[in-house]
Amino acid sequence: MLKVGVTGNIGSGKTTVCRIFEHLEIDVYYSDARAKQFYHDVAVKQQINNLFGEEVFDAEQNVDIKKMAIRIFQNENELQRLNNLIHPLVVNDFQKWCEERENQNFVLFESAIIYQCELSHLFDKIIFVEAPVEMLLQRIAQRDKADVETAKQRLENQQKNEIGRSLADFVICNDEKHSLIQEVVHIYNMLNSKQ
Ligand code: ATP
Repeated sequence: MLKVGVTGNIGSGKTTVCRIFEHLEIDVYYSDARAKQFYHDVAVKQQINNLFGEEVFDAEQNVDIKKMAIRIFQNENELQRLNNLIHPLVVNDFQKWCEERENQNFVLFESAIIYQCELSHLFDKIIFVEAPVEMLLQRIAQRDKADVETAKQRLENQQKNEIGRSLADFVICNDEKHSLIQEVVHIYNMLNSKQ
């Protein structure tokens, strides 16, 4: 079974690409959604409290992810500490998730930060999804009901992805000119033929 990473900038269309693969009956591990589940774990909550204090918890003593995101937004050090806590849990969870799917030809792992967090060694192949910057900004702003300036800041935090593009095995151009479905089906066929 091949483990395939799907990465690219925020708003590039990673989830959209993965949804098409799901229509082709490929299982997808959505790393952000899985990571968020760990914030309910008592031991994880305790460690987050140790790292950031009460201020990142809401009235029900749940981790307030928005507050935490604001806190670590411009603090590389704190972001690193949070990553050191959450990433090993996600990686371990992904490995178990894969073990339950050993009979499949390939599975996908969706994450914007495969290269930044040096997770690429986990994968046999990597798909990079890209789109023109102006399109990314419009999509992020529209989807998250934010202004273009906020979208720009979020995008700038991920610019290291430029390196990722050159390292990836497949690049999908989601510029609304190429047919996304055709691109996905092409890669689907390539990955299946590698078995
Ligand atoms: P994030 O990293 O923030 O999760 P993403 O890379 O997964 O983003 P998507 O959520 O797939 O990106 O797409 C961002 C937005 O752009 C969504 O609202 C999606 O519906 C829209 N979008 C993506 N691709 C296209 C397309 N080809 N045509 C029209 N809209 C698109």
